[in-house]
This record gives sequence, structure tokens and C-alpha cells, in this order.
Amino acid sequence: MDDCIFCKIIAGKIPSYKIYEDENVFAFLDIAEDADGHTLVVPKKHCRSVLDCGETELARTMSAVQKITAHYIERCGFEGANILSFAEPCAGQTVFHLHFHIIPRLTGDGVFEFPKIKKCKHTLEAMRQKLAMY
Ligand code: 5GP
Ligand code: ZN
Repeated sequence: MDDCIFCKIIAGKIPSYKIYEDENVFAFLDIAEDADGHTLVVPKKHCRSVLDCGETELARTMSAVQKITAHYIERCGFEGANILSFAEPCAGQTVFHLHFHIIPRLTGDGVFEFPKIKKCKHTLEAMRQKLAMY
């Protein structure tokens, strides 16, 4: 896609700190420099988010996420990772080419704290009634 920044990175038109590449997937360090090793894993074939990504591309991308995260933990000194993907601006998506963030973690590093505040407006049963797919 011509005006997609991640397509340009995959094509080598914009430089990146490449971590991994195979036929279908590309991974590089996030430019934010907010956490050591913060990595973005993207399918080479452009799609907007998990919502429009084909099943095969999604599986290939997730397989690379698993491989890279295991590498960070088994060989690079990290102990765990947060793995995230945002869909649509209301959820914080700012680049509209599907990507998974890998944020490698160490005990007590404090680099990323998932919200712990209880902010639900509805009961669990009300949400089950709204969301259940069976
Ligand atoms: P989102 O909020 O869409 O999930 O995350 C987009 C991410 O892409 C952000 O963390 C941002 O720092 C990163 N990013 C945006 N532009 C570039 C770029 O040109 N190069 C790299 N390596 N990362 C980028
Ligand atoms: Zn793209």
C-alpha cells in the first residue's frame, strides 16, 4: 500500500532496526524507545488490523510473534513479555497496518502496567448477555 509507513519499512524504503524476517512476516524495533526491545511484528501483506487479516496471514504472524518472544526469553535475557495489538483509533491504533507489539519484560521493571483500576460500568452477567456467541 503506497501511503503505509509499515509497507515502506517492509520494502526497505524507510530504514528500521530489523529483528526478524521470513517470506510472510517482518519484525523490527518500535521507534518509540519506550521499553528495551519493544518490537513490532507485521504481516508483509498489508491489512488494517486483526479484523480484516486473512486467517493464514494471521496464523503466520502469530507464529512469528511466538518464535521471537521465545527467542527473547530463552536467549536474550528477558523473563516474559506483553503481547498487544490495537484495533481502531478508539483502542489506540495509530498505524493502520496490522502489528503486534512485543514488550519484553523483567521482574520489577515497571515499564508497562496494565490498568488495574476497576472501571466496569456493567455486571459480568449483563456483559455475558450482551456478548455471548452461543
Ligand atoms: P499502535 O498505537 O498503532 O498500536 O502502534 C504504532 C507503533 O508504531 C507506535 O508504538 C509507534 O512508536 C510505532 N511507529 C510509528 N512510526 C514508526 C516508524 O516509522 N518506525 C518504527 N520503527 N516504529 C514506528
Ligand atoms: Zn501496510
